[in-house]
Amino acid sequence: MRGLRLSSILAVVAVGASAIPTKGISSPYDGFKVFRVKTQGHPSAIQEKLSNITFEQWNHDVNSHIDIVVAPDQLPVFAELGLEFDVMHEDLGASIAAESVHSSLWKRQAGDPSWFDSYHDYNDHIEYFQSLHDLFPDNSEIISSGSSYENRSLYGIHLWGTGGPGKPAVLYHGTVHAREWISTATTEYLTYKLVTGYNAGDRDARSALDKYDFYIIPIVNPDGFAYTQTTQRLWRKNRQPGPNGSTCYGRDINRNWEFAWDANPLGASTNPCSQTYKGERPSDTPENQGLDKLVRQLRDGAGIKLYIDWHSYGQYILSPFGYKDTLYAPELGKWTKAAQIVSDAIRDSSSDLTTFTFGPSGATLYPTTGAAPDHVYSIGRAEFSYTIELRDIGRYGFVLPPELIRPTVEEQWAGQKVLWSLLDEEFFDGVGPA
Ligand SMILES: [Zn+2]
Repeated sequence: MRGLRLSSILAVVAVGASAIPTKGISSPYDGFKVFRVKTQGHPSAIQEKLSNITFEQWNHDVNSHIDIVVAPDQLPVFAELGLEFDVMHEDLGASIAAESVHSSLWKRQAGDPSWFDSYHDYNDHIEYFQSLHDLFPDNSEIISSGSSYENRSLYGIHLWGTGGPGKPAVLYHGTVHAREWISTATTEYLTYKLVTGYNAGDRDARSALDKYDFYIIPIVNPDGFAYTQTTQRLWRKNRQPGPNGSTCYGRDINRNWEFAWDANPLGASTNPCSQTYKGERPSDTPENQGLDKLVRQLRDGAGIKLYIDWHSYGQYILSPFGYKDTLYAPELGKWTKAAQIVSDAIRDSSSDLTTFTFGPSGATLYPTTGAAPDHVYSIGRAEFSYTIELRDIGRYGFVLPPELIRPTVEEQWAGQKVLWSLLDEEFFDGVGPA
């Protein structure tokens, strides 16, 4: 892929802590279009044609389509390529501006669901978790899973129910990829529903928290996330400088986990300028080191019952293994059965019948090395370990309009509460490998 070096064309606009996020950065994308180019099973022929223009590619699974961001000066050449496509964003700058409806609508009351009507400034996210803790003082604590390269806390919350803490862990990570903002909202919504539901006597929230300790870290890549709000909306990696004088920044924290880090050359990039740059060594990002430390602590404590790394987009529920598409774990049968039940619950709960595809990661999508679910299963010994790719399937991609936050997070609550109720069921005994 010929990547468009977006950093070279973006003006850096400094935004103060209390300013409106992203508003200042909409203009660099003014006039950019996002296309879903159909490949219909022949991606290499289409990629050959696309090599005539520069673009940024959003997806890796190119068998049916390639989603690309095209700058205004490339549009005439793109039009001449004779490709079949749909328009995802007519004007990406306008879509980003529409996305940054400000959080002042939120009344700074944690019990108020209007938080989920807009995207928010990084500092407000920290405050939001503090206010959820304040609603649940005897059953929660604010925790940190380490620090980022720029020294931001990987803050989170630990929740427990009757007789806790100390039960097997449910661990959620959000926003490892900085631009996947809907994953922040989703991990926050699940926290909000657990806390307010437990307080109100909700049966699902009570039974989950009485059985498991929840560890929820909504922004595991805070430097990248802050960067998407101040400078470049579509940034993915962390903000660590490149090695050996490389001018490119950032490592993909989700290609940096120790387990099988180097197992498959197709699973990550060794190029510091790539979106999937895996680092120089396993776990050579401060973020990964902190996350891994908590994983090992939980393993050595009451153990990890369920791990989910929340991403967007594409609507998938993916289990290990990612690093090798022909390798099936002995637990794959139960993981797939559980994923199917979650997928059904999501579909049944959503007014537009949202469907999620499920299966082992490498075989279902594409190979990934050094990715979280493989590590948290193999090293962290999690009984269930997934990546969930949230909405959508390509209408808006990473720039999901604020009015779609609520339906997206609500359907995940429907999926998770069913999943929690099944984790300890004998139901899974005897379900063999798929
Ligand atoms: Zn992601």
